Amino acid sequence: MGKIDYYEILGVQRQAGEEEIKKSYRQLALKYHPDRNPGDKQAEEKFKEAAEAYEVLHDSQKRRLYDTYGHEGLQGTGFSGFRGFEDIFSSFGDIFQDFFSFGGFGGQTRQRTAARPGDDLLVTLGLSFEEAVSGTEKEVEIDTFVGCSRCSGSGAEPGTRETTCPACQGSGQVVQSQGFFRISTSCVRCQGTGNVLVSPCRQCQGQGRLRQRKHVQVKVPAGVDSGTRLRLKGEGEGGYRGGAGGDLYVRIEVTPHPQIERDGDNLYCKISISFLQAILGDTVEIPTLDGAKPLQIVSGTQPGAVVRFTGEGVPKLRGYGRGDLFVEVEVRIPKHITPRQEELLKEFIELEKEKDRNKGKKWPWNRRKEPDKDTMSGGRG
Ligand SMILES: [Zn+2]
Ligand SMILES: [Zn+2]
Repeated sequence: MGKIDYYEILGVQRQAGEEEIKKSYRQLALKYHPDRNPGDKQAEEKFKEAAEAYEVLHDSQKRRLYDTYGHEGLQGTGFSGFRGFEDIFSSFGDIFQDFFSFGGFGGQTRQRTAARPGDDLLVTLGLSFEEAVSGTEKEVEIDTFVGCSRCSGSGAEPGTRETTCPACQGSGQVVQSQGFFRISTSCVRCQGTGNVLVSPCRQCQGQGRLRQRKHVQVKVPAGVDSGTRLRLKGEGEGGYRGGAGGDLYVRIEVTPHPQIERDGDNLYCKISISFLQAILGDTVEIPTLDGAKPLQIVSGTQPGAVVRFTGEGVPKLRGYGRGDLFVEVEVRIPKHITPRQEELLKEFIELEKEKDRNKGKKWPWNRRKEPDKDTMSGGRG
């Protein structure tokens, strides 16, 4: 097969312990890492070989197979040699993290900037029913970081500038030797930026931002409802040392209306009229978003009748136009009447009977079904 012995690749004895194998592999991986040898095919080959050898030898089961049967012993175990960089970094991620500080594979280096964006924030804004429907402008108060005015967010005292970090000479990385191998870590002094502030801004201590109570004007569009989230770009937490501000999310909470119910863009309300208004007709007032409006009750209006007012609903938040307003008519029946009223109603009944007799109908009108005998009380037994 011409395959090189795994122990040979890692340069260890056959009886080498787990730690020794790991150590050796680290050394080789560091030496041949593609980030350090861009474009070097031979180094890449060596890097792959070491990875393959390590994958077998650090796994006691695979190692036993390899020790007994050699390369052939691993066939059929699902191990097929080097599987690509993705796999290396997923399976050996822990090892690499110990001694590499790379930001992604393929030579990408971490962007060296001290600026960090601020966090997104969420606030709840309470609105009245009318405000939600018609839109409004409100002010919210948040306790957060805002850009420092003294240094304009740079963190440097006015008149001073950042200088090259003396600890890492501007590389952002500090290399330490530990036993056999060298460990490269992010510079603590400059936080990996390569630059330090000679004199940090006196107002923000070099942060470029300050904790403050901030007032934000929120334009609330017409048609929002409870649960609607508005996003105000860049109005969240201020960034560190001039980094972009986070976003501010405003969650809407609407107080219900005492008379009008809302379902999306449509509105529903009930009005109550007396049975006399239902019979005779009348003009009543209904609540609408634009205030009370007159509604013509036609004579003979039935209980539960629904009147629809097109375009009197809520403005559509996305799109154009408005929803509709539905008004349900309830008819009140008086619970108590005076003897005189009773007298008049009895007279009314006589007139109805006479009217029906003329039409050949029988009193009482509109009887739907005979009363159920079992549920009738009295008159039986
Ligand atoms: Zn400042
Ligand atoms: Zn440094």
